[in-house]
Amino acid sequence: MSVRSPVRVGALAVTALLLLQGPPAHGGGEERDEYDGRRREAALAASRRLVAFGNWCRGRSYRALARRQYEAALRLDPDSGEARSALGHRREKGKWRAPATPEPSIDAAASSGAEVTRLERESETAHAEAAAPFAALAAWCAAAGLEPEARSAWSDALHLDPGSTEARRALNLGDSDTAWLRPSEEGPRVFAARCRGIADRGLKEFRDRVAGDPSALECGPTADGTKAVEARFSATSTHGEAPAGALVEDMVHAESLWRGVGLVLARSAKPVRFRVDAVASKKEYLALLDAVPDRSPEWKARKADTGSVWAHDGWVICWARRAERIRERVSHDTAHFLFDRYAPGDVPPWLAEGGAMFTATVLRGQSECFCVVSGASAVDRDAKVREDWDGETCALVLRGEDPPIGDLLVAGWNDLGRASLLKARSLVAWMALHSPLALRAALRKSTKEATPESALLRAFGAPPETLERRWRLWVRRQ
Ligand SMILES: [Zn+2]
Repeated sequence: MSVRSPVRVGALAVTALLLLQGPPAHGGGEERDEYDGRRREAALAASRRLVAFGNWCRGRSYRALARRQYEAALRLDPDSGEARSALGHRREKGKWRAPATPEPSIDAAASSGAEVTRLERESETAHAEAAAPFAALAAWCAAAGLEPEARSAWSDALHLDPGSTEARRALNLGDSDTAWLRPSEEGPRVFAARCRGIADRGLKEFRDRVAGDPSALECGPTADGTKAVEARFSATSTHGEAPAGALVEDMVHAESLWRGVGLVLARSAKPVRFRVDAVASKKEYLALLDAVPDRSPEWKARKADTGSVWAHDGWVICWARRAERIRERVSHDTAHFLFDRYAPGDVPPWLAEGGAMFTATVLRGQSECFCVVSGASAVDRDAKVREDWDGETCALVLRGEDPPIGDLLVAGWNDLGRASLLKARSLVAWMALHSPLALRAALRKSTKEATPESALLRAFGAPPETLERRWRLWVRRQ
């Protein structure tokens, strides 16, 4: 990953809504006064509805989820006594005080898919009802000629209710893909298993083709594994246990996954070329590195201590004693290569790494490699994340401890710690399952939009926090 352009770091945005809001109208007027009053009323009504949903969650032992509702209610109405009491705030000398050490809030695990469906439906209803006062406010603003205020109210409505086509139309988000609004059926594990099946079928087709016509490979998988090339992928390897033919198969396997879920288009869409050179020792790696053309001696010196490096776009060289590590690296980097086709050199780290982690865990059953940038050089860092990625992600969400999506979107390569990687991987899977078109659009837009928030907003037609809310319910579906 090290040859990619530096990570863009935008301002940490708590919400994407500001993107859509014009400057507030200045100047007085009765309409403006009335607007302020109506806006307060809308916020109070929405806050009350979220408190009611929080109470519903609490009554079913979804304590972390309840907490999120009370916090959201408080953002709408900082004086909500009910939300504050529920969060353990106390009134002292006329002011609310939060407890120094908030009580831990842990959600009960959902006992069935039907229970998650009920939770999703209840959440959807609560949020749609909370959005209604803002939609009414928007309509009033438009009639009163308060355009920026109308947009602001539509933004608030959309944040709460992504199902509002009216809000999307008003905010010029009509061409975004909203397939993700359909109710979930497959949970994370079932989806991962289906992806594995899709990838296996793709690999089998490839093997059958090569068996029927060895010329399909310029140099087929060989015992010594020195070189294997097919139309899209090539590999060289002197690693006895990870021959070149196996590495090309790993590339085909990874591509089959992303083609099968609908992210990568048909092969003919655009010619691709991805190459991996693998060796078993550092000495051999240094020799390969030394032979890379168009790279300075300084660059080569920086890469000397890494386990793998992007020599150029679409060309990785790597070394590892364990063959499995090389093969996982190939699965991981093939995903990077495929994602990079949509936003050359500019895929945001969380999206890139989330997709690569998902690929490695589904196809290799583990993910020990991940990408970081040290100064200008990439090094492998051993994640040592447990193999039950979906279980661990679910536990993180039930504890209410998953990092906020706003932080994830602007995280650099080195910022992606264990919790971020778990979440990034699961979010990419959620996107791939629910709306591969929007995921592809998000990748494409990551180079064109001003911020990571607006890229997601334009692709999915909803702000990142709204996607995150849906995702948090989905991960419970075991
Ligand atoms: Zn990576």
